[in-house]
Amino acid sequence: MKKQMRGLVKEIAGPSGLVYHDDLPVPEIGDDEVLIKVHCTAICGSDIHILDWDAWSEKRIKPPVTLGHEVAGDIVAMGKNVKDRKCGDRVSCETHIPCGECYFCKNGMPHICGNIQLFGCTQNGAFAEYTRIRSDCTFLLDDDLPYEAACMFEPMGAGVHGVEAADVAGKIVLVNGCGPIGLTAVSASKTFGAKKVIACDLLDARLEAAKEMGADLVFNSGKCDLVAEVRKLTDGIGVDAAIDITGAEAAINTALKCLRAAGRMVCVGLPTKPVTLHDMTDDLIYREIQLTGVSGRLIWQTWEDFAKVMKGPYYKLDKVIGGCFALEDYEKALEEIRKGTPGKMLLFPNAEDIRK
Ligand SMILES: [Zn+2]
Ligand SMILES: [Zn+2]
Repeated sequence: MKKQMRGLVKEIAGPSGLVYHDDLPVPEIGDDEVLIKVHCTAICGSDIHILDWDAWSEKRIKPPVTLGHEVAGDIVAMGKNVKDRKCGDRVSCETHIPCGECYFCKNGMPHICGNIQLFGCTQNGAFAEYTRIRSDCTFLLDDDLPYEAACMFEPMGAGVHGVEAADVAGKIVLVNGCGPIGLTAVSASKTFGAKKVIACDLLDARLEAAKEMGADLVFNSGKCDLVAEVRKLTDGIGVDAAIDITGAEAAINTALKCLRAAGRMVCVGLPTKPVTLHDMTDDLIYREIQLTGVSGRLIWQTWEDFAKVMKGPYYKLDKVIGGCFALEDYEKALEEIRKGTPGKMLLFPNAEDIRK
């Protein structure tokens, strides 16, 4: 077993990049933990926030920390208490590490644990050759699921969780925003029996992808009156459910107006500034709209549901991948993200894992 490894560390409590090392210690595991050889890891929007050192990061992160929480790899060592995993198991990891003791953990809601620890954030993560995590935070992968696909469970799982909360079977569903998470929500809605999925975005290229991933109708909300179009399609009633991936005030208010009375609005996208509801009386209260948010993924329901979506006819992995890079080339991947290139950027600690 190697003693040293390559990895990317956030070293300074302030705006700064990642620092590449080739002599980090291979993590030592605790009794309840597994050591994972990382085959693929993806860069998250939250990693960029940590590099830029926003208020969220300042509250949570204590550098130096190895970032990276979207991961797939193989278990190569286990602590002595680990019974339900074995060496060679292929796994992905849940970022939300629950305490197991609090009200939420004891009442079936560990994903919103009150003392949550965050993999690759409050503890070292996966931008490295090896990473360690508590074994009960690992999800076993099907043998035929590629590591690149498995890396999507964590980030896109929020979209699938949104679809679960929208309870889409038999319903007309509006998906607001068609980046990778929105595209996943579109395909999940179709997989779980939505009668019709309407997707909207401001970019036509994303709407084309939404069609390929199962959207029945797409609208460029910058170029049409979305509320009028939705009314036309639904005999003036509105959609049964709306899933917002944008976190944008205008889009949220428009989606509320697209909903039928007693419809359900699920918020997945995180606003970057305060959001005002323009007409709470008519858009929400008088029409008995249910407004809810989702955080992370249900452990493990969302993961199992997402596995079904991946196997289904609508999900297209190549539409959600933005680029593949060797770990050492992380600056190139970050540059693509900062340029606004769509799709997830993947890093591979072993260059031979990069799919050609
Ligand atoms: Zn993430
Ligand atoms: Zn807890």
